[in-house]
Amino acid sequence: MTRENKAVFTFFGASGDLAKRKLYPSLFKLYQKGYLKEHFGVIGTSRAKWSDEKFQGIVSDSIKGISETEKGQAAKFASHFYYIAHDVTDKAHYAALNDLINQLNKQYEAQGNRLFYFSMAPAFFSVIALNLKSEGLITDEGYNRLVIEKPFGRDYDTAKQLNDALTASFEEDQIYRIDHYLGKEMIQNIEALRFGNTIIESLWNNRYIDNIQVTLSEKLGVEERASYYDTSGALRDMVQNHILQIVSQLAMEQPVAFTDADVRVEKVKALRSMRVYSPSAAATNLVRGQYDAGENSNAYRDEDGVPADSATETFVAGKLLFDNYRWSGVPFYIRTGKKLADKFTRIDVVFKKPLIDIFAFPQNPNASLSENVLTIYVEPNSGFALRVNAKSTGQGFETEPINLDFFQDADKEKEVPEPYERLLHDALEGNSTNFASWSEVAYAWKFVDAIRKLWDIEVPRFPNYIPGSMGPAASDELLQRDGRSWVYKLNQ
Ligand code: NAP
Repeated sequence: MTRENKAVFTFFGASGDLAKRKLYPSLFKLYQKGYLKEHFGVIGTSRAKWSDEKFQGIVSDSIKGISETEKGQAAKFASHFYYIAHDVTDKAHYAALNDLINQLNKQYEAQGNRLFYFSMAPAFFSVIALNLKSEGLITDEGYNRLVIEKPFGRDYDTAKQLNDALTASFEEDQIYRIDHYLGKEMIQNIEALRFGNTIIESLWNNRYIDNIQVTLSEKLGVEERASYYDTSGALRDMVQNHILQIVSQLAMEQPVAFTDADVRVEKVKALRSMRVYSPSAAATNLVRGQYDAGENSNAYRDEDGVPADSATETFVAGKLLFDNYRWSGVPFYIRTGKKLADKFTRIDVVFKKPLIDIFAFPQNPNASLSENVLTIYVEPNSGFALRVNAKSTGQGFETEPINLDFFQDADKEKEVPEPYERLLHDALEGNSTNFASWSEVAYAWKFVDAIRKLWDIEVPRFPNYIPGSMGPAASDELLQRDGRSWVYKLNQ
């Protein structure tokens, strides 16, 4: 059911890349679908001296690929946008901002609901939150919600400092920490697949599952993000947030109900039981890599903005272990990297083979049953496939693996909401299921910090993989050591 939402939005960082590329187009989709109608106003702020008209023009221009009729709709949508030049570090500006919020609240009858979106460099997150509180912008009239971009700290200590600053102004249930992977259709489908299907959830444990593999593969290098990326690296940029969020959904117990509070409790429990490695265990269970030069491309160390001796990893693979009853003994292998073979995200759940292979007749001693594999294709296509063994058609009796699969058809795929559209809507609805809670963030940092303890002192042998590969050889060896291999391999 489509329900109209009423709110005044304030976008900090309104002239920035994210706002223009993702946030305004996503809000427009919500408007087109009727989740926003008449009762909303949007304030954009940044230091640039723009008029409302200029801002409205920028918002209209950010909405791409629309028909002539939709252009009229976009202009009406953009008329709800107002701009105020504002330096977030300057307390004096908040009074004007508050006046404008109050004015728009009245004008659009937004019921006192305030949604603040921090789409700025993280260094500003604390100061904005503190100023919103001290200057009286958080009111009791409707709701006050804060949507905050990543990264949330660069280790546990900085994340805690940031969280302390935010919670001095906002309650935990008012804070929506964005992880756009949680807005992806197939990541949300993990819960539907697991908890909506007896045949899956009843096998979802160490008795039947051999290992789980999560791959977030990027084809591009660091592009224009090089100088930021060099201070972060793949472990912080991809593993701490996206991968551990996905893993926690795969590993969690069934929530009591499908509510944000119940889901969060289970995700936190899963992350708490994830083994935090000692430096020597990290050396065995984690692999890092950095891309070399390709035929027509630079090595990471030759990218603009990257020091020639950079030890920043552009690839991570790892084996995660959960010390709990469900998962004891089942490795979760993860990998992510830049300049890999292709851009895709997938999850492969590898089941154990039958204990006895009755088809290995004496005349057919080399035949071997394949493992059943449930693959969740997250992107670029949404779907899943279950690999099962079946009889090969013909006179003899041999088995072969076949796939039972489902892929979203192309027309439906177009209707799938963008992660930012979905997450903005969730924030309006007060549903934080698909946002990271502080406890999840904290446990994820503790895991990452333990690895960094080793990586920050040990000098890596970089570069160690070529563009277009699936990372360094050590990533394959990580699984080979356990008698396993990645389900997704190159040239399959
Ligand atoms: P950006 O393009 O650099 O934009 C930063 C914004 O902050 C600009 O509007 C800038 O405008 C404003 N700003 C800077 N200093 C200010 C100040 N003192 N007072 C008021 N406004 C100020 O950054 P972005 O790429 O949009 O990223 C925003 C956030 O989203 C970051 O946390 C980033 O990590 C996260 N993020 C971005 C992407 C993406 O695709 N871009 C993806 C994931 C996450 P003025 O200079 O005019 O003030």
